[in-house]
Amino acid sequence: NRMIVTPLTELLGIRVPVVQGGMQWVGIPPLVAAVSEAGGLGILTALTQPNPEALRVTIRETRQLTSKPFGVNITLLPSINPPDYEGFARVAVEEGIKIIETAGNNPGPLIKYFKANNCIVLHKCTTIRHAKSAQRMGVDVLSIDGFECAGHPGEEDIGGIVLLARAAQELSVPYIASGGFADGRGLASALTLGCAGINMGTRFLCTVESPIHQNIKEKIVASTEQDTVHIFRTLRNTARVFKNKVSMEVVALERRPGGVKFEELRDLVSGARGRLVYENGDPDYGIWSAGIVLGLINDIPTCDVLVKRIEKEAEEIIGSMGKLIKAEAKL
Ligand code: NAD
Repeated sequence: NRMIVTPLTELLGIRVPVVQGGMQWVGIPPLVAAVSEAGGLGILTALTQPNPEALRVTIRETRQLTSKPFGVNITLLPSINPPDYEGFARVAVEEGIKIIETAGNNPGPLIKYFKANNCIVLHKCTTIRHAKSAQRMGVDVLSIDGFECAGHPGEEDIGGIVLLARAAQELSVPYIASGGFADGRGLASALTLGCAGINMGTRFLCTVESPIHQNIKEKIVASTEQDTVHIFRTLRNTARVFKNKVSMEVVALERRPGGVKFEELRDLVSGARGRLVYENGDPDYGIWSAGIVLGLINDIPTCDVLVKRIEKEAEEIIGSMGKLIKAEAKL
């Protein structure tokens, strides 16, 4: 009975240093509870709920499904209908949520609010400058999102390897690796780069408990590392999404001489339309986030099987690393 112990497992009280990051339309109670029950950290996505009171209901539902720790994600990015961020934050605190994942632009006021209410704050960011700024605001853990990630990678295009090594040089609080992680090999490599664990989104999207249509899970299994594309580059709100008819149309419009305004893209890219991909199972119907890690995903396991497999693989790899070191041969 061995386990990997890191500052993340100790701080959060979880068995395996694996976090299921916020995912729009996907971070709802059945998946969140399954990840936490499996020994990782499940995270509810606040903005998936239509209003703060609906978030309150999902927090209570999750508690019915697991007594293990879980968190709430609040992401601050441009959106078609501005969400009631303060309301979501207040409800999370009122319901006794102790672990918060923040992400996106200008998180200062939210971080301050959650720290004043004794929450553990994981903040997701894509540059060392933003990580250091969040560290000054008092976050407990940084989730460092590399170029490989699904959703919004920022505009600087630094791959995970260098970004995480830079984090090791610059940060004094624990950090976890995000973007490109799906297996025990990834977890072991992240630990080698000084991380306290990993964050996974796309990998958890393709599990039995993930609340999306079976066709989309099978599409993920059939896809490769070449099946994502960046949209919104020209709007400085870059997002890595699944490469399909809609995302390629968006890219083509962005490349038009003179570019494109968000208003012209709105109906193509809306989250409400993307949600129907997950509901109806047509991968071409709208925009849906996916990371380069698509290339590493070859099955649809339960969260329990997945998290245990990652733990075991990582332990084996870390254990076998010692064998690389040998006594020097005598001349
Ligand atoms: P939405 O329908 O409001 O917008 C769809 C996409 O267009 C999003 O990527 C959004 O960032 C972008 N967008 C909206 N207005 C824009 C503008 N004026 N300029 C440039 N880009 C713009 O998005 P949604 O699916 O309802 O999601 C709501 C919010 O949650 C968005 O901010 C979205 O980015 C964010 N989100 C969060 C997660 C997460 O994991 N927490 C995942 C995906 C999206």
